[in-house]
Amino acid sequence: MTNNELWQSVLAQIQLNISQANFATWFKNTEIVSQKKESVVVSVPNSFVKEWLKNKYSKNIFKTIHGFNGEVKEIEYIVGKPKLKIFEKSPIILPETDQLEFQQFKVDKNSNLNPRYTFDSFVVGPFNELPHAAAIAVAKNPGFVYNPFFVYGGTGLGKTHILQAIGNEVIKNFKKKKIQYIPSEKFTSEVVSAIRNHQMESFKAKYRNIDILIIDDIQFLAGKEKTQEEFFHIFNVLYENNKQIILSSDRPPRAIQSLAERLKSRFEGGMIADISVPDLETRIAILKTKAQEKKVDFSDETYEYIASIIQKNIRELEGALNHLIVYQRLNNQKPDIETVRTVFKNLFSTAPVMVTPKKIIQEVADFYEIKEKDILSKSRKKEIVKPRQIAMYLLREDLKGSFPFIGRKFNGKDHTTAIHSYKKILAEIKKDKKLEEEIGLIRERILSG
Ligand code: ADP
Ligand code: MG
Repeated sequence: MTNNELWQSVLAQIQLNISQANFATWFKNTEIVSQKKESVVVSVPNSFVKEWLKNKYSKNIFKTIHGFNGEVKEIEYIVGKPKLKIFEKSPIILPETDQLEFQQFKVDKNSNLNPRYTFDSFVVGPFNELPHAAAIAVAKNPGFVYNPFFVYGGTGLGKTHILQAIGNEVIKNFKKKKIQYIPSEKFTSEVVSAIRNHQMESFKAKYRNIDILIIDDIQFLAGKEKTQEEFFHIFNVLYENNKQIILSSDRPPRAIQSLAERLKSRFEGGMIADISVPDLETRIAILKTKAQEKKVDFSDETYEYIASIIQKNIRELEGALNHLIVYQRLNNQKPDIETVRTVFKNLFSTAPVMVTPKKIIQEVADFYEIKEKDILSKSRKKEIVKPRQIAMYLLREDLKGSFPFIGRKFNGKDHTTAIHSYKKILAEIKKDKKLEEEIGLIRERILSG
């Protein structure tokens, strides 16, 4: 048997035993690259797949190969070049995306600002004109025009970018000003550890000393009473001293549940501006700007096509552009519009995918090869608990389900279980790159319908 014949026979067997989605995830772009007497070398597209095949499927693969060729004693997995067919229907694994960051930017240690986010690289259109104008005014005269400055809008629409752009602009114009950018989750954990370590005084001193305080995604302060209380005091001190406070959230202050009334009214005392969704022209302009930054260019038709299928998220627009860049590198040629269409038709099926709690639970169970009824059960087994926590996390993070709602979906579990699961996964993702990738793959499956 040739390498190819053997591998095709193996795949045919394995396909019978596992779900279609798992098969596509773990076996796409694999092949046997060499067979010696006792060992077979299987090439896989990346180390992530390698680990999974080794840990979850090696027995299965070995048994099957052994069935065809009794002499084989071991199977080795190596990471080979991914084939060109990476744009087949999801899931898509692009280990090269890191290399797409042509310019490596370093986050400033003191201010926590990323110099990549500037006003220069920020495209302005009707959807963000107002927050942009206000942001420029704030950067020119921090503490005196709009205080606090509160920006809200959906995911991937430029909140973090605009917040940090203000910070970077202030650094340029006012060398002496102390700027601190901090995501609200980080702020919360600082409060918690200051309390635990009895360092509240130095915590307070640090924040009172800041000229421009930028807190991102303030909606995550919801329900965190102690953090809100500390923030309230810091807010007042800064405000009274004409220090600038800049905040973002995914919704307006009124709509943040479990946020103290006194904070809501403080936030409403300044300027509130929302970023809406960019229109088609602006989306095209954004794509062109990004392409220029990355020193590539595609046809106008290509930009128009991408901008017409991705409408609500600038991060996704960038992602689509990155896909094309990878394609171009692998194939050594610019994709023509037909190719572009095929690539993205597969990536984003035009029929909107209905993401429901049921769908999320099913996909997570399927991904980890456990039964749906087990994921919903009370079992404390490790191999069940983790998927369950991930499913709860996704229900919260992607569907914005309330914790009591999530509890109910899992056979009436208590809302505290849902909170615990959500927080646990949230924290683990930060430390565990692999888990993050796993969840990324699950999301792709959910979205691929
Ligand atoms: P959010 O914080 O609202 O989720 P981000 O600020 O992280 O969104 O933006 C997502 C990505 O889109 C970032 O890479 C950012 O640089 C880019 N981006 C967002 N808005 C613009 C814009 N108006 N012009 C250029 N790039 C943008
Ligand atoms: Mg953000």
